Amino acid sequence: MVADFWVTGLQPHAVSAITGTGTGEMLDALAELLPPPTGLEQDDAEEQPLAVAIVGRPNVGKSSLLNAIAGEERSIVCDLSGTTRDAVDTRVTLPGGQRLTLIDTAGIRKRSRVADSPDGAEQLSVDRAMRAVRRADVAVLVIDAVEGVTQQDFRLSELFASEGKSVVVVVNKWDRVDPRIWSVEKMAENVKTQLRHVSWASVVCTSAISGRHVEDVLEAVLDAGKQHRRRVPTATLNMVLREATQWKAPPTQRGSLRKGRIYYATQAG
Ligand code: GDP
Repeated sequence: MVADFWVTGLQPHAVSAITGTGTGEMLDALAELLPPPTGLEQDDAEEQPLAVAIVGRPNVGKSSLLNAIAGEERSIVCDLSGTTRDAVDTRVTLPGGQRLTLIDTAGIRKRSRVADSPDGAEQLSVDRAMRAVRRADVAVLVIDAVEGVTQQDFRLSELFASEGKSVVVVVNKWDRVDPRIWSVEKMAENVKTQLRHVSWASVVCTSAISGRHVEDVLEAVLDAGKQHRRRVPTATLNMVLREATQWKAPPTQRGSLRKGRIYYATQAG
């Protein structure tokens, strides 16, 4: 039967959509024919500066943090306007040679006239933050150590997670908290519990104004960037998938006893 299809000049694949027989082989053959994913190749990714968006509510210290990171001891290659008018990009080369593009939304937002309306301003800054974050590999969410996590921070973190961004949470103005009440560990735990969508993110407590622990922010950002650009080979992914489904089978379909089946996985982006 299958052999009959060779006459078309194309390679036939015998599959059964119901039992799944042959579909793995079919997908392997399909994957081989696909062009390599654009912009994802390891070499290309390494050449691109890591894009880092600094976002958070007004007055939490985003500009101060940016200035502390892009301090004089680092060489600022150039200041360039962002591709949108929402944000200003600053290129920074770190002493280790790593290049960063810092996307800062603070300056423009301060000039916003919509700031008069609390709801309008909030919506606007979330939208701006998200536009900046879409261009970024890593989102740095800055929160005020005294104010703590707000509703807007929660919303932003939820959006970062759904956009598949790496996240570093910076608890700034650490100089203003009472050390008898807060330790770094306690604060990190508190933040992770409240921002549950990004509970995997690193939490760094800093004081941007004095520059304390700003190095830790950079370290966390570089690490998050490395994880964000990590590509897992298809073979590894399928090995893990096979083991995982052996350990815990996919659920049965609603209203039937048939089990769901996972045939194949590949990291598309
Ligand atoms: P942005 O609106 O998020 O960009 O915040 P800014 O960087 O403009 O900072 C807002 C205010 O907080 C300024 O008056 C800063 O001097 C102050 N500030 C920023 N970082 C710190 C900090 O680490 N500690 C303290 N005590 N004040 C800070």
